[in-house]
Amino acid sequence: MLFILKKGVDPSTLIEKIKTGSASYRYIDLDGRGIVVAWPDKLVESIDDETVELKVKVSTPYQLASKVWRDKTIVNIGDVEVGDRRVVVAAGPCSIEDENTFMEIANAVKRIGGSMLRGGVFKPRTSPYTFQGLGVEGLKILKKVRDATGLPIVTEVLDTRDVPLVMPYADMLQIGARNAQNFALLREVGRTRKPVLLKRGMWMTIEEWLLSAEYILLEGNFSVVLCERGIRTFEKGTRFTMDIGGMVYTRTQTHLPIAADPSHPAGRRDLVEPLALAAVAAGVDMLLIEVHVRPEKALSDSEQQLSIEGFERLMKKLKLVAEAIGREL
Ligand code: PEP
Ligand code: MN
Repeated sequence: MLFILKKGVDPSTLIEKIKTGSASYRYIDLDGRGIVVAWPDKLVESIDDETVELKVKVSTPYQLASKVWRDKTIVNIGDVEVGDRRVVVAAGPCSIEDENTFMEIANAVKRIGGSMLRGGVFKPRTSPYTFQGLGVEGLKILKKVRDATGLPIVTEVLDTRDVPLVMPYADMLQIGARNAQNFALLREVGRTRKPVLLKRGMWMTIEEWLLSAEYILLEGNFSVVLCERGIRTFEKGTRFTMDIGGMVYTRTQTHLPIAADPSHPAGRRDLVEPLALAAVAAGVDMLLIEVHVRPEKALSDSEQQLSIEGFERLMKKLKLVAEAIGREL
């Protein structure tokens, strides 16, 4: 149950009533407006207070993430707005490998019109014997490239212990598919006020994905973008199945912006472009695309990273698709 308070009121009388009924609650300040989430519903649905402007019984297990009480959230990452008319493209390598390579890629992404950079320094690799990312050394490269290009950077945090390390260097924290139900990590990024890109775990239903978002929102961080990156199905032609229908459905359930990563479900360079175009046609607010100056030499995901030429071709087509549906790139 959500209690949306009148602006500027003291929540304590409502909270006292909730406590008296032995219910659980959480108070959140959303841009100066108080919201009290209280549960279970049966203990709180009869509660009322003059400080409450709107009381909303949400029928889904996720409450704060629901579209029932809020139509739209725009996430600000520096000057970049995700969830508005412009489709935001974040591009860059799978992993940051060295300063020169990342700088080269970043300059190309900027020239071609990308509005953010991506690049991992803490990498969640299936095998412990493959490149694990540069770690802390990579963070210094992030800073140099971000200062040189002025583009905000999204990078993954693998562990709760990485969060304070990454905070000064990242403009957006990525929670990878494999950590999408790491509830301690979700809570930890929720305690920051940094924008979060929350990947969908490859095994997760949309309800579970939105419940993961709920962990972040419940800590008071509303700057969350949901990112579809493909789920496991019986199909082996692609690395994962990009759930277009799922993205469209998710839009009907939540006010949070939606992103797509066409690179990981494609698993092959030649499939990235059509999947990216399809995602924009389906209405996503943001794309996360792997691009490399020498993709065949990349230390991770070399088969799926686009070349600079491939990225440039894609951006031209994306612009047309975005305009066709009343958006811009
Ligand atoms: C990534 O974007 O670098 C990545 C590892 O993606 P995912 O968590 O979706 O596999
Ligand atoms: Mn990758």
